[in-house]
Amino acid sequence: MATDYDAPRKTDEEQGEESIEELKARRHDKNSGKVDEDETEAAESFELPGADLSHEELAVEVKPRQDDEFTCMSCFLVHHRSQLADEKKLICKDCI
Ligand SMILES: [Zn+2]
Repeated sequence: MATDYDAPRKTDEEQGEESIEELKARRHDKNSGKVDEDETEAAESFELPGADLSHEELAVEVKPRQDDEFTCMSCFLVHHRSQLADEKKLICKDCI
């Protein structure tokens, strides 16, 4: 009885483990394959607009601040010089 009970139980466990591992492997393969495809497609479709965006960003970065503007040392916002309340501390009128 004990042997009869043990034998099928062992087989069930083994089969269960096998099918779970198989499912895991299959699922992993499917997912990784899908992700790879998506990433490749995304990278390809992003290449053209990405180049345009970086060009625009560079153009903006050339002039981060105008000569008649200053960065407030309190709120760290760029204000026009007319908003400068403390020239030495570089504090805008909003923060004084
Ligand atoms: Zn400020």
